[in-house]
Amino acid sequence: RAQERTPGDRRYLDVWGVAKSFKGTRVMSGMNFRVDRGELVSLLGPSGCGKTTLLRIIAGLMEADEGSVVLGGRDISRFPAHRRNVSVVFQNYALFPHLTVAENVAFGLRARGTPKAEIAGPVAEALRLVRMESFAERPISALSGGQQQRVAVARALVVRPDLLLLDEPFSALDRKLRETMQVELKSLLRDRGITAIFVTHDQEEAMGVSDRIAVMNTGKIEQFADPSTLYARPASPFVMDFVGLSTRVSGRVTAAAGGMLQIESPYGSLRAAGDLPVGAQAMVGVRPELISVGQGENSLTVTLEDAMVLGSKTVLHGRAAEGDRILCELSGIRSGLARGESVTLGWEVADTLVYGGEA
Ligand code: ATP
Repeated sequence: RAQERTPGDRRYLDVWGVAKSFKGTRVMSGMNFRVDRGELVSLLGPSGCGKTTLLRIIAGLMEADEGSVVLGGRDISRFPAHRRNVSVVFQNYALFPHLTVAENVAFGLRARGTPKAEIAGPVAEALRLVRMESFAERPISALSGGQQQRVAVARALVVRPDLLLLDEPFSALDRKLRETMQVELKSLLRDRGITAIFVTHDQEEAMGVSDRIAVMNTGKIEQFADPSTLYARPASPFVMDFVGLSTRVSGRVTAAAGGMLQIESPYGSLRAAGDLPVGAQAMVGVRPELISVGQGENSLTVTLEDAMVLGSKTVLHGRAAEGDRILCELSGIRSGLARGESVTLGWEVADTLVYGGEA
C-alpha cells in the first residue's frame, strides 16, 4: 500500500499530447491532463473551449488526431468506446423512454453479454445506491428530472467502470435540486472510490464537487488546481475572472524589491507580491469580499453607484475617478451607504493579485 502512494503510481488517467481538428481547424493541441485514482475532477470553461471534445476523446466517442489516453496503465487510445470500461452520464441522460428504470440500468450489462442470471443483482444494487429501488418497474417517462438523473448515474455505475465521465450532469435540474444532487453524487462517488470527471461551465458547481479543477480556455488548460488555490491564487486574469468575481485596475511597476511590487495606478500607489520588472504594465486584482470600507494597506476612493442589500451580503458598486468599476461585498446587511456617496475602499497587500499586461 505504501508504494501506491508514490506519485507515479497514483496517476491513473494520463492524457498526453492530444490534438484535435475539425475540418482543418485546430481546436486542441498538446493537451496534457492527468488524474489520480479516486479523484473527482472538473473541466471548467466557457462555451467552445473544448471540454466536451476532451471528454469524448477520453470516452472513445471521438478519435484524437494525435496523442494518447492511458487508463490504469493501459493505453486505450485505439480502443473503441465499449472496450474502455469508461461510463458516460450525458447532459440529457440519454435514457430509453420506452423502457422501465430497471431495463435502462440493465442495458449496459446486456450489451456486454452478461448472463441473464447475473443482471438482476447488480441492477438492484445500483438502484439502491441512488435510492431508486422502489421505482424499478416504472417507465422513464413517469420520473422527475432528479429521478432520471439518478437512473442515469445507476446505469453508468452498474458496469463498475474504471472511470466515470459526466457531461453537465446537473444542468437540467433546478437550483435547489441541483445542489442536493451534487452533494449526493459526490458522497456516492467518494464512498465507492470512483474516479470521475465532470464537464461544467458553472464555477460554483465545479468548486463544490471537485478535488481539482482544470480551467480551460480555447483548447488549453490555463490552470489545474484545487478549488481554494484556483480562487485565492488564479494563475492568469482569465482564471481570476472565470472563477469568481473580481475587481481590477491597471498601473505600472515603479519599484520591485524582495518579491514586493509598487504599482502606480491612476488612484495612487498600490502594493502587491509579485515578480515583474520595473516599468512593466501591471494589472492589479482583488476579490470583492476581501475589500472593506475604510483605509487598508491598499486603498482607493470611489463614488457609490449602488448599495444592494441582498440579505446574506451587501454589494457595493463603486466607480473610481478614471471610470474603473470596483465591486465590494460586505457580509450581512449594511445600511447607511447611499448612492452618490464618496467612500474609501481598502484591502490587504496579501489579498492583492497582480499580473503583467493591461487590464
Ligand atoms: P460547450 O460548453 O458549449 O459544450 P465545449 O467547451 O464543450 O463547449 P467543445 O464542444 O469541445 O466545447 O468544442 C470545442 C470547439 O470545437 C468549438 O470551437 C466547437 O465549435 C468545435 N467543434 C466541436 N465539435 C465539432 C464538430 N463535430 N465539428 C466541427 N467543430 C466542432
